[in-house]
Formats: sequence, structure tokens, C-alpha cells
Amino acid sequence: MQKPKTYFIHTFGCQSNKSDSERIAGDYQARGYTEAESWQSCDELIVNTCAIRQRAEDRARGFMYNVVTHFSELGLKRPKIILTGCMTHYGNTKLYEMMPQVDEILPINEVGFNSAAIRKDKKHAWVPISTGCNSFCTFCIVPYSRGREQSRSFDEIMNEVKDLVWRGFTEITLLGMNVNSWGLEKVGIGFRKLMMERESFTRSDLPDNQSQYLKPKETPPFVKLLQAISAFEEIKMIRFMTSNPWDFHDELIEEIGRNKKIDRYVHLPVQSGSNDVLYRMNRGYTRERYVEIVKKLRAVDSEIVIGTDIIVGFPGETEEEFQETVKLAEEVSWLIGFVAMYSPRPGTASWRIYPDDIPHKVKKQRWDLLDELINKRNLSTRPIVV
Ligand code: SF4
Repeated sequence: MQKPKTYFIHTFGCQSNKSDSERIAGDYQARGYTEAESWQSCDELIVNTCAIRQRAEDRARGFMYNVVTHFSELGLKRPKIILTGCMTHYGNTKLYEMMPQVDEILPINEVGFNSAAIRKDKKHAWVPISTGCNSFCTFCIVPYSRGREQSRSFDEIMNEVKDLVWRGFTEITLLGMNVNSWGLEKVGIGFRKLMMERESFTRSDLPDNQSQYLKPKETPPFVKLLQAISAFEEIKMIRFMTSNPWDFHDELIEEIGRNKKIDRYVHLPVQSGSNDVLYRMNRGYTRERYVEIVKKLRAVDSEIVIGTDIIVGFPGETEEEFQETVKLAEEVSWLIGFVAMYSPRPGTASWRIYPDDIPHKVKKQRWDLLDELINKRNLSTRPIVV
């Protein structure tokens, strides 16, 4: 009998990529492949890439270079290398040019929800509820790499949850680029068309993020989904990521307050404490609105802790604008802050309309300061001001 072919998946990046890899594994196993112990011993190597920052891309390229070198030094036939993930936004021609080691490209949207996930964890499961993103923050590559936002149907999600309950899972993390907008009615915009058609445009030509969906007239669909999943007695913990401030409805805050199965840690990316920078980023909220959400969350349960993402050195970020973020850090006392130095991603709006004009040295100083303030001095133990 012929030995079954083997695959190995090397994943870079966020939880969405890890969740996609679980489904890629499902697809391979459905086709009769078995998982190899390492990339050194597989027939097909799937590299699931991240493009959020230049460093993430460099790591994927470095990894593939090491794989090819390893096999050529040993004089062995190397595995077939299949690239997927966020770097696919470059398009096939450019990718084959950039990485001649790649044998095949698997478009990220073809991973989809169709394959059953192969999970290593027996207690906790990632469950994607949407793919893509409609928000177009100017710095972000996701809407180009993952395409338009598509909500998975309620029935499909619930069937997967029922199956997880049956298998003994007790913790679920719902995944999406903007989970709060799950199931909302789209307004529809021509952002991508505008990006493609125009040689040049300015920030004021871009539609605002908060205009992407009709405001829900009744309980937001995402809240109903949380309630339906919580109804399973066997499910003890529900987490979700990522939430964005512009769709963080009051009913969601109330639900978090009363539904103790929802994790008390809320991840709420702010990106900047300056309204002018937020506008340039097209984030669809103000510093004041962010603080209002934080206050409301803490009012429904004082145990709630908040984490965030921040970009320093965004184009044009003045010292005063940066200090607004520092002040916000002191005001909010985040439990944790994932601070990143801005790196222009080819193809994004910010890459097209703003020069990357903050010197690396300044970005690094700002990064150090915020990291120290939020993560090292553990502000979260201080009295909460807001
Ligand atoms: S909400 Fe903004 S930052 Fe998040 S994935 Fe969409 S475009 Fe990117």
C-alpha cells in the first residue's frame, strides 16, 4: 500500500491565521494526507504568512530561505512549498518574483469556513465568525489580503459550537477582524474602487469606518450570538477578538456586564490617543468615545480589564500628538498594550497618501516609553482614573 502523503503547516501572525491553519489541516486530512512531525519530514509545506508589518514578511521569507538551504545542503529533495495568508495580497506574479522558492499559492479566501478544523487543544476552540474586513483603516493590509467582510451564518456557527460541546470543549474564542459588526446590514462603499481607479486621493476622499454598517435597530446580532452560545451549560468561557470601538454598542457592554461566561478581559484597540492621528488612520471614533466605552465597561463590572493595540510613529505624528497617547495610557490604565512602530504596508491607503516621515529613532523612543508605561510599570495596579 502506498504511504499517505504528509503535510506540515508553519503559521505566522495572529489568531485568525492560527484558526485558518486548523482549517487548512482539516482540508488536507479530508484529502487523505497525514500531518508530518516537522517541516524537515513533510511532502507539502504550507507557509501561512502575516503581512501586518515588514518584519513579519521578512520572517516568512527568511523561513522559506532556510528550508530551501537546508534541503540543498543535504542534497535532498525539498517539500513542495505552498504559500497562503496575508502576503497573498501582493498577487501571484509579484509573489513568485519575490519568493522563487514558492511552488504554489493558496488564496486565503479559499481556506474559507468549509473544512472542519483540526484542533490540538481539547478544551479551548477558536471559532471564526467572519472573514475579511470592510473597515479600511488607512494603515492596514487586511482588507486587501482577506477581502470584504463576510459573516458566517448563525446556523453554521451554532452547529460548530454544538459539535464542540459534544466533544467536551468548554472554552470558545469567537474570531473576526471586527466581531462587533457580525451579521450587521452593510451599507456598502466604493473604497476599493476608489483606491484602484484614482492615481491620487486624499484622506478626505475616504469613507469613514463608522459608516460601513447600518446601526442595529434592535439587539445587535453579535450580542444575540453571545447569548445563544452562553445558553450551553457546558460552555464555561467565551472570548472574542477583535473588537473595534466604532461598533461597540451599549447592548454589548450590558451583555458583558451581566453574562459572566464572557471573559473579563476586553481587547479594545485604540491605536492612538490623538484625534488628529485617529482621523488620519480612519479609525471611526474619537479619543472621547474610546474613554466613554472604557468608563461604561468598568461601570457594568469593576473586574473588567482592558488591553489595547497602539501604533507609534504614524505619518505626521507630532510630539504633542504622541503625548496625547501617553496621557490616555495614564488615564485608562490598560492591563496590556501591544505597541507597534508604524511600518508602511505597500498597497494600503496610508502608504499611498502619507510619507513615512517619523525617523526610526523617534519611533523607537516612543515605543520604549509606551511599553515601559503600559507593560513594565503595570499601570493596571494603580487606581483607575476614568
Ligand atoms: S478594522 Fe481596521 S485594523 Fe482591523 S482589520 Fe479592519 S482595516 Fe485592519
